[in-house]
Amino acid sequence: MLNIVLFGPPGAGKGTQSQKLIEEFGLTHISTGDLFRKHLGEGTELGKKARAFMDEGRLVPDQLVIDMVDDRLREENNLQGIIFDGFPRTIPQAKALDELLNQKETPITGMIALSVPDDELIARIVERGKTSGRADDQDKAKIATRLQVYQTETLPVATYYETQGRYELIDGVGSIDNIYERIKEAVARLQNIAG
Ligand code: ADP
Repeated sequence: MLNIVLFGPPGAGKGTQSQKLIEEFGLTHISTGDLFRKHLGEGTELGKKARAFMDEGRLVPDQLVIDMVDDRLREENNLQGIIFDGFPRTIPQAKALDELLNQKETPITGMIALSVPDDELIARIVERGKTSGRADDQDKAKIATRLQVYQTETLPVATYYETQGRYELIDGVGSIDNIYERIKEAVARLQNIAG
């Protein structure tokens, strides 16, 4: 199985690149942002709890995220593998994911991190905000909060995988196809390491 954590700041292109990986490798996409937006849209209890955090660009509390991913994994039997997008975003989430996957005996193959400078990220998010309908894409202050939360709370997750020797940092600037080629090379390296 190929279980990849696709990592990077808001606007790095995780969703776009996930779609290409899904098509080529037959993987399942688990995006916690998408799952939360679905709950918001359906007005579930979880959606109501998550809304305030999401609207402000802050992280939803770990336990809510972890329980949601746990539920999602229970209904998943794709033997090809999974792409995690926007998760894990904190160290407790990363540890919880390892435990959940241990139960399934299918560990994370590795993390692929997309590196994109802040000015480019802001430009991409503002552009996306014109059509995404996402409140958190349409407000400069909320975008700034998300980038700051990424630096302080999420970036340590990269170190978590790096110290375990299952981490690849990719230049996330360029054409979608060029970046995808870099990602595929990184996937091959991670598969070699995992054996
Ligand atoms: P982006 O990467 O563009 O910020 P996402 O769609 O991944 O967008 O996430 C949108 C919002 O959903 C986040 O700002 C946060 O409030 C919430 N969220 C998504 N994933 C997580 C997570 N793993 N932990 C905590 N909050 C999350």
